Amino acid sequence: MRRKLAAGNWKMNGMQASLAELARLAQAHRDSAVEILICPPATLLQAATAYAPLTVGAQDCHMNASGAHTGDLSAAQIRDAGGRAVIVGHSERRADHHESSQMVRAKARAAQAEGLTAIVCMGESAAQREAQNTLDIIGGQLAGSIPDTATGENLVVAYEPIWAIGTGRVPTLAQIGEVHDFIRARLERRFGAGVGRSVRILYGGSVKPDNAAGIFTVSNVDGALVGGASLTAAAFSPIISALDAV
Ligand code: PEP
Repeated sequence: MRRKLAAGNWKMNGMQASLAELARLAQAHRDSAVEILICPPATLLQAATAYAPLTVGAQDCHMNASGAHTGDLSAAQIRDAGGRAVIVGHSERRADHHESSQMVRAKARAAQAEGLTAIVCMGESAAQREAQNTLDIIGGQLAGSIPDTATGENLVVAYEPIWAIGTGRVPTLAQIGEVHDFIRARLERRFGAGVGRSVRILYGGSVKPDNAAGIFTVSNVDGALVGGASLTAAAFSPIISALDAV
C-alpha cells in the first residue's frame, strides 16, 4: 500500500507569521492517514518542524556533501535542520538555474544517501505536449533524473506539466492518467515490480480545492505537489481532505 502524500511547495514565499498556517493545518489533520509534507523556504525549515504530524522538506539541495558553494544547502544540512525530504528538479530550477537531468540525478542521489526522500520533478512544456512528445520527454527525464539507488521510501516522482504550474490550466484526467501509468510502467521495468509499485507518483500543477477530488480518482495518482494552494490552511486543507477521502 502506498501512503497518500500531500506535499506543499512554498517556493520563495512565507515569513515567520506564515507558521500560523502550519499550526492550523496540524490541528485540522492531526488524525489524517495522509502524509502531509511542507517544503517552506530555508529560512523557515527548522521552525516548521514543530508542527507534527506535518513533516518538513526543502526545495532543493546541492549534490555535494559540503564545501565552497555559496548560497547552497547540502542534504546533510537539511537533515540536520529536521527535514525529511527534498524537492529536486523542479521546472523552475531546471529553467532558472539551468539544472540538467544529470544534475538532478546527482542531487537525488545525495539526498537519498543522507536518508532523505527525493521528490524528483518532471514535466513537459506546452510546445512539447502540442507536438505529442510528452511521453518521450517524461521517459527521458525519468531515465536521466532518477538514480539507481531508488526505493519506495527514498523516491517520490512528481509529474508537473510546466504549462500547468501556476497557470490555472490543468490537463484532463485522461492526460494525467496516461502519464502516471507510463511513469509506473517505466519504474517497474527499471526497478522491478516491488520497488516500481511502491514509489509514490504525485501530480502537480494548479491543484486547487475545486479540482483535487477529481485528480485523486485517477489511477497511479498517489497525491499532489501543490504550490500556490499550499500557502494557506484554508486552501490546502480541503485538498488534504479530498486525498484522505479517496
Ligand atoms: C509547483 O510549482 O510545484 C506547483 C504545482 O505550483 P502550483 O500548484 O501553484 O501550480
